Parts: sequence; C-alpha cells; structure tokens
Amino acid sequence: MADLTRLTISDALQKMQSGEISALDLCQAHLQRIERHDASIRAFIKLTPDLALEQARAADKTRANGGEGSLLGIPIALKDVLSTKGIETTCGSRILQGYVPLFDATAVARLKEAGAVLLGKLNMDEFAMGSSTENSGYFPTRNPWNHDHVPGGSSGGSAAAVAANMAMASLGSDTGGSIRQPASFCGNTALKPSYGRVSRYGLIAYGSSFDQTGPFARTVDDAARVMAVIAGHDPLDSTSMPAPAPDYVAQMNGDIRGLNIGLPAEYFAEGLQPEVASAVRAAAVELESQGAQLHEVSLRHAEYCLPAYYIIAMAEASANLARFDGVRFGARVEGRDLIDSYKKTRGAGFGEEVKRRIMLGTYTLSAGYYDAYYGKAQAARTLIRRDFDALFEQVDALLAPVAPTTAFRFGEALDDPLRMILADVLTISANLAGLCGLSLPCGFDEAGLPIGLQLLGAPFDEARLLRIGRVYQEATDWHLRSPELA
Ligand code: GLN
Repeated sequence: MADLTRLTISDALQKMQSGEISALDLCQAHLQRIERHDASIRAFIKLTPDLALEQARAADKTRANGGEGSLLGIPIALKDVLSTKGIETTCGSRILQGYVPLFDATAVARLKEAGAVLLGKLNMDEFAMGSSTENSGYFPTRNPWNHDHVPGGSSGGSAAAVAANMAMASLGSDTGGSIRQPASFCGNTALKPSYGRVSRYGLIAYGSSFDQTGPFARTVDDAARVMAVIAGHDPLDSTSMPAPAPDYVAQMNGDIRGLNIGLPAEYFAEGLQPEVASAVRAAAVELESQGAQLHEVSLRHAEYCLPAYYIIAMAEASANLARFDGVRFGARVEGRDLIDSYKKTRGAGFGEEVKRRIMLGTYTLSAGYYDAYYGKAQAARTLIRRDFDALFEQVDALLAPVAPTTAFRFGEALDDPLRMILADVLTISANLAGLCGLSLPCGFDEAGLPIGLQLLGAPFDEARLLRIGRVYQEATDWHLRSPELA
C-alpha cells in the first residue's frame, strides 16, 4: 500500500469513503510513523495510541453504518495548551505535570464530533512563551528539515508533527505568532484565525486578548477543512464572535482577479535574510500573474508593535498564571504553610522565561507604573489597529514574510531574549489588531530550510486569505515537499 501518511485530508476522506482504505489503516500508518521518527524529532509530549485506535475503529463503524463527519477517521494531534478531558494537559510546563482536565476545549470537542482521531499532545514552549520550543519544560523539538535547527515556537510540536507526516493536521495557538512562525520554519500551511473566530474555551490562557487556536496542515484545502470544524460561536467563550463562520471549504474556491494586495514597506526592511525577501517577493509576483494587483503600503506605527505586544502580553500572563499555585492544578511542593507552599510550587514549577514574564508583567501593572507602561501600550495598540483599519480600506489583504529568517540553530537565540523576541517582529501586529493570518511555504534557503509567506486579512476575512492561498498553491508546489527523514 502507498504511504498513507502522505495523503491530503481530502484524498484520505475519499479513499475511506470508497472503501479503499480504513480509518484504522490510516491511524496505524501514522502511529508507525511516529514510532519510527518521533524518538529523534520529539514533537509529542504525550501519545494516546489506544484512544486513537479506538476512535479509528469507531470511525470505521460509523462510516459503515452510513454515518458522517467532515473529518471522520482523520488523525490529528493537539498542542498541549488545549485541555483534553481525561488526558494529561501540561502546557509544556512542569507545574501542570499530572493535571488531567475534566473537560475538552471547545475546539477539541468539535474535532471529536467531526470524527477526528486524536493521536496525542504536542510539545510547545512553556505556557506558549517563546519562539523556538526550547522553553518547553520537558525537551526541545527538532526541525524535521534539519535536526540542528529549531522548529520555531511556541507551537513547535504542532509544526514538526505535520511536517514529518506524523499527523495529517494539528492544532496550535497563536498569541504573537506561534502558529505562523513555526509553520514557516517547518514548511506547513497554517492559519491564525481572527480574534473571536475560534473559541478560547479550554485553551490555557497566556495573553487572553491575543490568544487564538488554529490549524496546521499541508495544504490550504486541508487547513480550511479543519478550520471549518473549529470555527464559530461558542457560548462558553464570551469573546467569541456571536455569528456563524462562513463555509471555508466552499469559499476557498475562486480566482483572485482584481484583488488588491498590499506589501507593507516596513516588513521588507533591513535585517531580512535576503533569501526570505526574494522568495516572498517572488510569491507576490506569482499572485500578480494570477490577476491580483500589488501595492506598496506603509504601517506607520510598526515600530511600536513589539513593545506594545510584550508589555500587554506579559501583563495578561502575570494575571493568568496566578491561578497555578499547587492547590488546584498539577504539581505541588509542600511548604511550611500555605504561602510557603505557593512559593515553593511556583519556584520549582515555572521555568526561567515564564518567571521573567510574570515579574515583568507584575511590574508594568503595579501602581505608579501602570500608566507609564500598560496604559501607553494599550494606547499604542489602538493606533496600530487604526493603521490596519485604514489599510484594509485600500487593500484586500497584506503580504509579507512570516519571520525575518529561516529556522535558527538550537541555542542561537536562547541566551539572548531580545534576539528571540525579534523572531516575532512581523507576526505580532496581527494579534494586536485581531487580524487573521495565513502562513504558506514559498521557497527554501540555501541550507534547504523552508521559507514562509504570510497573508494578513481584516478581522473575520479568513475565507479570502484561504482563497488567495489556494490560488498560490495551485500554481506552485513548495507545500508538497517533505523532508527526508533518516
Ligand atoms: N513568541 C511570542 C511570545 O513569546 C509569541 C508566542 C505565541 O504566539 N504564543 O510571546
């Protein structure tokens, strides 16, 4: 039998429908692939093979009985930031070791309802803080294209698992770039939905005004299929948009003739790896040849994105992480009394980066500093949002690199927090303004590492981004390449 781990979701669904393969075949092929390759890549924090086999058998039964599900029998894996009922959920942190949620995140519940098969939980930077997955409380994940390089982060496991064909798709989360940047480093197609498009219920909070869950896949078509399942209003998340999501699978079809695409000058500025700049410009030219019109545009407040994001994200993180005290969730270190237990648990359970952010966030929220830092950052955020509002009056979408460079080597940015932060310089604005963003492979550098292109859209304009992405993928084959694994 051909290698089932290389199928797209639509091909796999078709083959299962016609009876050529079963969900069990598909599941076993992925479990075998994980067994062969995950010892070196280490995308998974936790595997759930028994559950996967059980769900695959159930999917086959459902299909045999005439039942349906838009992802019936499709093997998927989840970033460990998503709560899974009965399955340990650590968020990449030692402090949550042993925590077993009593409920599923809404995105997870919807995948299950659609018949997806859950292979396991994926590695990530602790509490989604980082850009390389080196901040995982457990172990780093390797980039399948080159094991000496990071997979990006914080959803490094989600990107690596799909790139290595260990899962047909995965979910990750994006607070400042954590879906798009690892997708770019590993050569995936991945979507960061607009704020409010996908429920945050059961997504362990980092920066609550930024966080969004979204799909990693190998093609736009596959990403749209997963997105169609997880998107839409959820009464359990008060920030979720109270309107139905469009039919992404139907709406991704169509041409892009006459569409206006803006290239923000600030995103092609100095510091970009030359191969990244040229691959992304070549992609823009490809879209132009498909009928789009290109425009040079400017984001006036681009330089304020990084400071505004990091002040607000750390402030929100310091509040969100206050709940991890050893009493209600996960690991606990006993102290002399309650306060001492809190201190010992948090001291032992959180890693360096998380502690740094809790301290900085607490500082910027404290009396006397609140106006100078947090208040100013919020004001800057408003200006940045208005910049985008104005731009989307002129153009239908923006096009830029995802990250200034391709995947860096382990250790290269770890001791230099500023360098790590710069990996997000091009992705953060979308989170500040609540935009949607699609990351697409658009080439390789000389070392053979993938280059990613990002399309940004106005809030709730995912369908248009998917359409542009699909046109691009019909004309190119970057997304079809897979790394050679030993
Ligand atoms: N790298 C950014 C940070 O550390 C973004 C992370 C994310 O999107 N979760 O905050």
